[in-house]
Amino acid sequence: MQIEQLLVHLPPYYTLADKTLVERAYRVAEKAHQGQKRASGEPYVQHCLAVADILAELRMPAAVVAAGLLHDTVEDTDVTLDDLRRDFGEEVASLVDGVTKLVSLPRVSRADNALQEEGGPAEDFHASEWERKRALTNESLRKTFLAMSKDVRVVIIKLADRLHNMRTLAHLPPEKQRRIAQQTLDIFAPLANRLGIWQIKWELEDLGFRYVNPEAYKEIASKLAERRTEREKELTRASERIREVLAEAGIQAKVYGRPKHIYSIYRKMQRKGVPFEALRDVRGVRVIVDDIPTCYTALGVVHTHWKPIPGEFDDYIANPKDNSYQSLHTAVLFEDRKVLEVQIRTPEMHQRAEYGVAAHWRYKEGDSHLDEDFERKINWLRQLMEWQQDVADASEFLQGMKTDFFDDRIYVFTPRGDILDLPVGATPIDFAYHIHTEIGHRCRGAKVNGKLVPLSYKLQTGDQVEILTARRGGPSRDWLNPHLGLVKTQRARAKIRQWFKRQAREQNLTHGKAVLEREFRRLGLEAVALEPLARYFNYQAVDDFYVAVGCGDLSLNRIVNRLAEVEKEKEKPYLTAHPRSAEKTPPEDEITIMGLKGMLIQRAKCCNPAPGDPIVGYVTRGRGAVIHRQDCPNILRVRDKGRLVQVSWGVPTQAYTVPVRVQAYDRDGLMKDIAVVIADEGVNIENVSVKVSEKTGLALINLVLSVRDIAQLSRVLNRLENLPNVLEAFRQRAG
Ligand code: MN
Repeated sequence: MQIEQLLVHLPPYYTLADKTLVERAYRVAEKAHQGQKRASGEPYVQHCLAVADILAELRMPAAVVAAGLLHDTVEDTDVTLDDLRRDFGEEVASLVDGVTKLVSLPRVSRADNALQEEGGPAEDFHASEWERKRALTNESLRKTFLAMSKDVRVVIIKLADRLHNMRTLAHLPPEKQRRIAQQTLDIFAPLANRLGIWQIKWELEDLGFRYVNPEAYKEIASKLAERRTEREKELTRASERIREVLAEAGIQAKVYGRPKHIYSIYRKMQRKGVPFEALRDVRGVRVIVDDIPTCYTALGVVHTHWKPIPGEFDDYIANPKDNSYQSLHTAVLFEDRKVLEVQIRTPEMHQRAEYGVAAHWRYKEGDSHLDEDFERKINWLRQLMEWQQDVADASEFLQGMKTDFFDDRIYVFTPRGDILDLPVGATPIDFAYHIHTEIGHRCRGAKVNGKLVPLSYKLQTGDQVEILTARRGGPSRDWLNPHLGLVKTQRARAKIRQWFKRQAREQNLTHGKAVLEREFRRLGLEAVALEPLARYFNYQAVDDFYVAVGCGDLSLNRIVNRLAEVEKEKEKPYLTAHPRSAEKTPPEDEITIMGLKGMLIQRAKCCNPAPGDPIVGYVTRGRGAVIHRQDCPNILRVRDKGRLVQVSWGVPTQAYTVPVRVQAYDRDGLMKDIAVVIADEGVNIENVSVKVSEKTGLALINLVLSVRDIAQLSRVLNRLENLPNVLEAFRQRAG
């Protein structure tokens, strides 16, 4: 690479002064590194140019690109910080100083020598693997945070430096390759992820994976290559179709295929425990639309054209990820019967997703778009910078970081020494769910650094965590209670909710079954045929029918009404145990006038009401009450509403007498209330007896009711049970 190429790649908003600064930095770097070679045999300045080029691609300001060119001068050449300060000013000098301090990080502790990129051979050390990682992480975190607190741009330069070192890793001896790659996966890729710089994160991951697990890398890469042309064609076709469909709905969108990264495929295979072939057909497209409302409209359009795959929808617009990533994610069954993943976002979200913190400077290209969130974070960093001078000790420093952005993560260890990155405040339950969903569900306790801790324990950076699990079982509802502080991460919350959703079916089934059985018992019904009943309500299985009752989709009322219908068609109805005696059967058209017993009654000639019609009485002068249909035009015209009385058809012939027992704590007016409820339902009381226990105050009321059908009986029993002091109302068994 030549300086001329870098100058062409510089962001378009650079001024002439900016370009001159970059060129001057190059001249100094070239001279300083004169004679030095990379492991590849190239002149060392090629590395400086490449790092600067990555920074230019991120569209960082000129001072950052210049610092990228100079980043190794103070460390590896005769150039001093004072030289830089004199020639390039304070800003460039302090950026280079920050990077130099980060570069020297692996030399801080003996154990870390092994991880030094361009250092000498590894020293022997006897610390365990876990201690080594722990020391490394704490120390590098400290350095990283210190550097970040000065200037987040330092970390971006360091990431660009690491990226180019990874791109040229092939020239180092295999043992070094593996160690540097592992460190990249452990620290630098998560750091890029933390800053939201996807562009750097995925490449660090793929390169790191390539050296840490070359066999798996090659296998996936070659399988991807096999179908590359075909896949690209499919993606182009899918993108065109989506663009068409959105255009028909009046939505302007950029749609394009999304490349799959090897490490992310590998992790998906691991996570889902499936071979590559199972993921082969998964393709992704990205849809970019103008604003947030259009994101949701576009989602709706996609979902109406292609069947969404259940459980694959995520709304990261309403619930942004920890690193403030936003998008709508869904997956649909596309027209070629294969899965298509769709991400929908606005241009701003896209910028942030690709460039993270660095997007801030990209925004500046256009207008002075201010990212308030970013400003807030930078302000916090400035404050931190002021007191950081007083802080020498790493642990004290980490503890001092109570809020915000860069310090809102903790790094903890699995028993095997793997590092897990969690938000501050994360608990053992969060940890368990991050290891594996099933471990989360069965988590019952935890040991931290070998000691038992409560599940509400807040994990600290450096903790080694061991989860104690039950053999089976699931999460507790308490875990979702925000006041108990048992779960911090969204991911764990989502998993817990999912579990309860699945459980809900079981619970609804049990509940529905209990409710039905109780109702049948109360109504004195035995051996109700459930299958025809379930089929009648369109449930394929009795279990589904129970679930519907349990979750309230199907009301007991409807079921009891259906039973009453069945009853009429039956030769041996449920209520035959107590058929009403013949002499007591009232005339078929007996009419009861509420509160006006004994009044002369006649049916109106105008509307000729028949039993079963809704009716109303009109009190005449001298001729008693005339019964009309409620919708009779003559009634609708009546001015003097006071003459209208409520009437109802009498108990029909097919009434059954049913012994009912009510248990209640006796109180004033209890019997009156019971009588009113029964009369209100149009039910006659044939017989009553009351026994009150003086010792307990418990009243046993035995009633003989004359009911039309079990639906009516069910209503009466329900209403009786809802009266104050009533404990139970149920049909007494025959016999
Ligand atoms: Mn370097």
